[in-house]
Amino acid sequence: LSTKLQDVFKQLKSKGKLSDKDVKLALREVKLALLEADVNFKVVKQFIKTIEERAVGTEVLESLTPGQQVIKIVNDELVALMGGTQSKITFASKGITPIMMVGLQGAGKTTTSGKLAALIKSQGKRPLLVGCDVYRPAAIDQLMKVGKQVNIPVFSLGTDHNPVDIAKAGMEYARENNFDVVLLDTAGRLHIDEVLMDELKFIKAEVKPREILLVVDAMTGQDAVNVAESFNEALGIDGIVMTKLDSDNRGGAALSVKAVTNKPIKYAGMGEKLSDLEPFHPERMASRILGMGDVLTLIEKAQQNYDEDKAKELEAKFRKAEFNFDDFLDQMRQIKKMGPLNQILGMLPGMNTSKLGEIDVDDKQLAYIEAIILSMTKEERQNPSIINMSRKKRIAAGSGRDLQEVNRLIKQFEQMQTMMKQMSGMMKGKKGKFKLP
Ligand code: GDP
Ligand code: MG
Repeated sequence: LSTKLQDVFKQLKSKGKLSDKDVKLALREVKLALLEADVNFKVVKQFIKTIEERAVGTEVLESLTPGQQVIKIVNDELVALMGGTQSKITFASKGITPIMMVGLQGAGKTTTSGKLAALIKSQGKRPLLVGCDVYRPAAIDQLMKVGKQVNIPVFSLGTDHNPVDIAKAGMEYARENNFDVVLLDTAGRLHIDEVLMDELKFIKAEVKPREILLVVDAMTGQDAVNVAESFNEALGIDGIVMTKLDSDNRGGAALSVKAVTNKPIKYAGMGEKLSDLEPFHPERMASRILGMGDVLTLIEKAQQNYDEDKAKELEAKFRKAEFNFDDFLDQMRQIKKMGPLNQILGMLPGMNTSKLGEIDVDDKQLAYIEAIILSMTKEERQNPSIINMSRKKRIAAGSGRDLQEVNRLIKQFEQMQTMMKQMSGMMKGKKGKFKLP
């Protein structure tokens, strides 16, 4: 999918300004690329429609070329399609959090159970692995091996027991031994069948899992989406773990599974090693699908242009001398992308940039300054003149910086404000003669 889309965007890029027709043509290519990547047809249709609606509307910013705009919209919508933000698993506030791992045979349940247990352990919890796959003789051994590798205990009763009894006994064992998370590795089948679903329903009724995580193999593409739909309908799932994303270069399953089931992908399996599990980040996946090189640079460029709008907003504030510490903080956070503060001040008409030397903000100090501003109350930030000695001391203590530093920042800020006031007075005086950019 990646290379396909990159080709499409390369064409867009070389065109500079695009007509409506070009956008339509590009979207046609995007559509084909998505279909070829095995993305669900209905999902593709809706996706293209959304993009078209957004692209045609008022949203095209003057600062962007239509090509950049289309890429930005495609990126945003890809992110939205995959759920927008990262979805985490939640833990019970008291007692045990049971997590049921379900899915077809070979999807990666056992491996992922081990990976997830390790991740949960690293968050300071005490997970227990429970082996409920009694059908394949080697399945419990495999889980034992996995558990040993990540140093997490494994509970099971052996293959002559019923999986529901094992789950129940596992929960009891966890309670008695102070485990707080139980990961149940269940059996899979080659295909969805009723016997499997019934067994899973019984386990669900017995342990009342906080999370049912469906493990699906990304490499199976559209099939993974169908599997997810069936499991969700029969059992009800809370989230999806998409495995083997390291070997899948189409991304079709990852793109459509959320749209079809309305359940988020929570984790991504990125390899066979037990450390290869990551929380699923829709933005990162979107970047991956769009490809890393040129396209990403273009998106960044588009983002930068958004920041330029913000700079214009700031400029207006400078003019009215309404600039406060909150704006200052906002500005600082953008400095890396936009260049130093004095450069922004330098954009103002009639400004002598050499006078701005005192407000030199070097990269190392950004974090300190940020800490100081964050230690101010809202009132102090908006009206710095109220910051007296006792307030300064409090701010210094709160930010872990010394009083001198706090003083210096406030002094520099006041100088800047004075300068802005003079400037805005000057501009008012010359009203009519000045043509503001
Ligand atoms: P189960 O039948 O659902 O329990 O699947 P397993 O956990 O036994 O995994 C089946 C195969 O997939 C094993 O060879 C795993 O090493 C492999 N596997 C699982 N997750 C991943 C992954 O994220 N990436 C890759 N490349 N292989 C994986
Ligand atoms: Mg297994």
